[in-house]
Amino acid sequence: MAENTFKKVTVVGAGFVGSTTAYTLMISGLISELVLIDINEQKAEGEVMDLNHGMPFVRPVKIFRGDYKDCAGSDIVIISAGANQKPEETRIDLVHKNAAIFKSIVSEIVKYNNECILLVVTNPVDILTYVTYKISGFPKNKVIGSGTVLDTARFRFLLGRHVGIDTRNIHGYIIGEHGDTEVAAWSLTNIAGMTVEEYCEKCHKCDEGLTRKNIYHEVKNAAYEIIKRKGATYYAVALAVRRIVEAITRDENSILTVSSLLEGQYGISDVCLSVPTIVNRNGVERILDIPINDSERQLLLKSANSLKEIIKDLNI
Ligand code: NAD
Repeated sequence: MAENTFKKVTVVGAGFVGSTTAYTLMISGLISELVLIDINEQKAEGEVMDLNHGMPFVRPVKIFRGDYKDCAGSDIVIISAGANQKPEETRIDLVHKNAAIFKSIVSEIVKYNNECILLVVTNPVDILTYVTYKISGFPKNKVIGSGTVLDTARFRFLLGRHVGIDTRNIHGYIIGEHGDTEVAAWSLTNIAGMTVEEYCEKCHKCDEGLTRKNIYHEVKNAAYEIIKRKGATYYAVALAVRRIVEAITRDENSILTVSSLLEGQYGISDVCLSVPTIVNRNGVERILDIPINDSERQLLLKSANSLKEIIKDLNI
């Protein structure tokens, strides 16, 4: 595809996540056309009206409520439709409800567009990315889940705040499931080129082991804590999705922990989960098979196996 041809994005599901994502895309300057689709047409219509009234303050974007036929010509179709977690619910608890919704949504999208990149945000995102891959019949590089891009951001924020350094200078990844079995890849984490061990050796301000444990738990439980307080999470995930759209539309070759189909990397196959991945206009350009330490590898395998167990029950 030629340079700068990525312009149209459709968002299916205009709830908290979908409408906030639409807002981040509207103000991003990355796209020129944005379609919102929701089973609740009034909701989508209301969101479109609200967004459009901000138009004098941003670069022009055509925003409208659409039907599935309006997916035609979209470069990226983002799916954020379906049930969200209620307090105390895990992401996995949503699987049967949202897999059924996805079966109908994905088959509608592909009737009108079989060339776009499908970007899944609905939870459980890794399972639904796999469901989308299977139902769509799309090549594996074109089916992406937002995966642990959000968790990685939470990790970088919390570690950056702990050490008092700009989060953009903290490099590290949360890998595996976007959910309870996710893994902090401490062996890949670095601060200004220093491993965490090297940094801590010079710092000595805290109990390193305890801090690591606390940061990991805070990342893993972030959604539960936010949902307990305000009912849903949407700002940070919308920015994460905007970042993925940016890497695709600008053909950036950025490394992001998106979820996609693994085929032997890290000894894992036939499941979608997140590991550092090169993202560009093709969607997934390449999955990096980075040496992680043995305990992280074991935890990643465990995460993959727990996802596979759930997929087995879905009959897809
Ligand atoms: P929400 O209830 O506010 O919105 C969901 C929307 O989907 C509603 O507007 C609903 O009308 C619509 N919908 C339902 N069935 C539909 C169908 N068949 N076709 C079209 N639209 C349909 O929920 P939310 O807070 O926006 O969350 C959406 C999803 O995103 C949830 O599954 C949530 O867990 C997930 N989420 C993912 C991440 C992530 O990092 N991947 C982060 C936060 C939330």
